[in-house]
Amino acid sequence: MIFGKKKPKKTDESQSLGGEITIPPLEIKAMGIGRDEATGLLIASKQLPGYPVALVLLANAITGKADRILIDYSAQGAVVRYRVDGVWETLPALDRVTADSALVVYKKVLGLNPTERKARQDAKFATNFKDIDWIISFMSTGVPSGERVLISIDRKKPIIKTLSDLGMRDAMQESFKGMMNGHGGLIVLSAPATHGLPTSWKVALENADKFVRDWVSIEPKKDQEPEIINVTAYYYGTEAGELPEEVFNKVRLKQPDVFVMPSLINSEVTSELLSQITKENKHAVTRIVASDAIDAVIQLLTANPKHAKQLVSVLQGVLNQRLIRRLCDTCKQPYQPAPQLLQKLGIPAGRVTRLYNPTIPPPPDQRVDAKGNPIEFEICKRCNGRGYLGRLAIFELLTINEPMRQAILKFASKPDELRAFAKQQGHLGFQEEGILACALGVTSLQEVQRLLSGK
Ligand SMILES: [Zn+2]
Repeated sequence: MIFGKKKPKKTDESQSLGGEITIPPLEIKAMGIGRDEATGLLIASKQLPGYPVALVLLANAITGKADRILIDYSAQGAVVRYRVDGVWETLPALDRVTADSALVVYKKVLGLNPTERKARQDAKFATNFKDIDWIISFMSTGVPSGERVLISIDRKKPIIKTLSDLGMRDAMQESFKGMMNGHGGLIVLSAPATHGLPTSWKVALENADKFVRDWVSIEPKKDQEPEIINVTAYYYGTEAGELPEEVFNKVRLKQPDVFVMPSLINSEVTSELLSQITKENKHAVTRIVASDAIDAVIQLLTANPKHAKQLVSVLQGVLNQRLIRRLCDTCKQPYQPAPQLLQKLGIPAGRVTRLYNPTIPPPPDQRVDAKGNPIEFEICKRCNGRGYLGRLAIFELLTINEPMRQAILKFASKPDELRAFAKQQGHLGFQEEGILACALGVTSLQEVQRLLSGK
């Protein structure tokens, strides 16, 4: 039972910024400057009045699982926001003096100019907190209303994930792995912007079968991809000035099995790649920013009109994903869905006996009963009363079979017709996949509705 008339407990380790502050054990040492200089700056900053607040803002963000801190300064004060699982939360406002004192510390300790409040300033530092190594990036810049500060908090060593970690259900994993490990085809990974495409790209490649097959990637030198184990990267646009098609031709002589193409680059490369796929039975993987699988298909063809027909003929599958918040397993509340609701959602009777809601306590000022007496709520320690913890992706996997190829060629500029055709063929879109995720208890109907409304 989460709601109870118990004594309120301090449920997380975050501190409020009023009253006395314990300085968290988090050390800020600027990167990119000499070690002695960074130590000197740290010692000097510890004497500043804003030091405790600056550190508590950071420590609270990390403890609360935020990956971004946004501070907007205006004449009156500062609004602080934390981003947790992709959702911005506003903290109680800070008065101007407190907020300014923290900003002076960040700038001073990072070797930036504390009096510069207009021009953009950037710096990074590495720190260890809660036994995890973090890389923290600081950026400040003048905006019309005052000054804006963005602090990004990233793990130094990203955790290697599996498709299950990302939220792909088992049956889809089987189909998707089959596509990735196939021959003579093109696989497209896609997602709307900010929906985690770089992560799923990396995870999909890391989890593909690379032990019996050679995987190579062709990338621009100036925009290299994060390294992926057992995928050999080749670069164009190097100092020698090699063109992408020259690099591609050199690489294909090495007879790799799979070409990893973060983009199809240009018409010459696309043409060579298609010939490798159709004549040599090689495989290829590329990615596109797109709102759903059908949108990805249309964008692929629109961007390569000369090769559209051939691309359709080799296309085997398109994955798309959107990020959604994961219910906190500790406090999620089961309920028995009414038969009418199940019918509305298209779930056959008897298939799903329970769905889950998040437990979200009302805001502190509304925690009173009908008579106005305060009710005390116990807040879930695991999710700090957010009801959600972490995110997962809802995936849509479009298999391109022969009838689908015909439909794509027929309706290439009509996405709605294509979506209707795919559905007729039994393809599950985001709505169906979202409902499946609810039935598995990993997310809520509210969250799926939020996803479908595009918020
Ligand atoms: Zn919880």
